Amino acid sequence: MSLRLRDTLTGETRPLEPLEPGRIRIYSCGPTVYGPAHIGNFRSFLFADILVRYLRFRGLDVTWVMNITDVDDKIIRGANEAGISIGELAERWLEQFLADGQALRMTAPDVLPRATDHIEAMVSLIQTLLEAGHAYRTDDGSIFFRIGSWPAYGRLARLDPEQLRVGERVEADEYGKADVRDFALWKGPKAGEPSWDTALGPGRPGWHIECSAMSMAYLGPSFDIHTGGVDLIFPHHEDEIAQSEAATGQPFVATWLHCEHLRLGGTKMAKSTGNISRVVDLLEAGVSPRALRYALISVHYRQGLEYTPDSLAAAAAALERLDALELALDTYAEARPDSPDLTAALDEARSRFEAAMDADLNVSAALAALFDLVRELNRRIADRSLSTADAGRALGFVRDLDRVLAILPDEAADLPEGAAELIAAREAARANRDWVASDRLRDELAALGIAVEDTRDGQRWRRLEAV
Ligand SMILES: [Zn+2]
Repeated sequence: MSLRLRDTLTGETRPLEPLEPGRIRIYSCGPTVYGPAHIGNFRSFLFADILVRYLRFRGLDVTWVMNITDVDDKIIRGANEAGISIGELAERWLEQFLADGQALRMTAPDVLPRATDHIEAMVSLIQTLLEAGHAYRTDDGSIFFRIGSWPAYGRLARLDPEQLRVGERVEADEYGKADVRDFALWKGPKAGEPSWDTALGPGRPGWHIECSAMSMAYLGPSFDIHTGGVDLIFPHHEDEIAQSEAATGQPFVATWLHCEHLRLGGTKMAKSTGNISRVVDLLEAGVSPRALRYALISVHYRQGLEYTPDSLAAAAAALERLDALELALDTYAEARPDSPDLTAALDEARSRFEAAMDADLNVSAALAALFDLVRELNRRIADRSLSTADAGRALGFVRDLDRVLAILPDEAADLPEGAAELIAAREAARANRDWVASDRLRDELAALGIAVEDTRDGQRWRRLEAV
């Protein structure tokens, strides 16, 4: 296909060839549900969301799996501190994660497997590794992956396997390791920690094995794309490759995609949202979830994103332009022949948009193509050179591209309570030439964050994007 992606493992940018014709299987490392997600986490999740949306837009059948890590050191510590079970803690933050994802219009993954529901799959993977000599037990009931048995180790992160983890602090519970570089597949039981009774004996899984077991459970031993933040390349994804390929003897993942960091910038300002980094806090502070989504997706995923209060203001301004265009097209009426060259303008915008997305998901270039079209359509609206049908076609076109971006408003669902009634009342007041009522209703709508303007096509309204 024409989409080219840069694979972290080989460093090559090459056409995506589905392992199974017409179908793409994707696994994304999901959240560890021990606290609220930060915008940096969501930058990575929304990058995967854009990938999934674009593949579907291009007609591929996508299966997207995102795991939920609901047992690990941080969750155990958090639950012990709060005096609740790890299940209760995980449930609470999973709910918040799903709410954040919905607010930010993240596509719901097809499967959201939880680690604690897949202990058996992890156990059987570890048994295979033990039998093949890639893993060994220590006295406390833990099991480690033997890196010395896997010469390809270090390829993803481009590290010399001999130098790995030398000088790294050895955890108190890991002194039994044969080699300082080896990593835990299974952790023996300890007081104050949850433990499962399994064929391996009691204990709990290590974090890395969770992703190998859950991805292969839903997508098979070899699948198309694995995504995550760059911070997961080493050791997490390096370990995933080693333990998966050592167990199955097959290539684990065809294309590895890693999203760069988000850096919080900007100086401290009174009442600013610049220093807030949790999604839930930003939304509670009144930030528009659409503006936040726009700010997080609009920079290419392989570039660092410097996030400042200005990012949100710029996003809100861009959205207002889109909203104004959508509204103008929606209310436009002109009895005249269809313009002969609109199709060519829309075709050109589409091919520029697709060419940008095909170039390793260059969203910023795709947005530039969209906003060039916005300018062009605004010009045609201003000089009344579109027919009513042209305007409808242009609106349908912009909404179609929005299947990839998900930044246009949800029709009436986005209106604040009572706004629809006020808009209708103002329409009636204008029809009755009651200018006093019309002005009062305009002020009431402004207080709800809705701007109205009167045009020759009638009253138009748009949202004022909160920042
Ligand atoms: Zn993972």
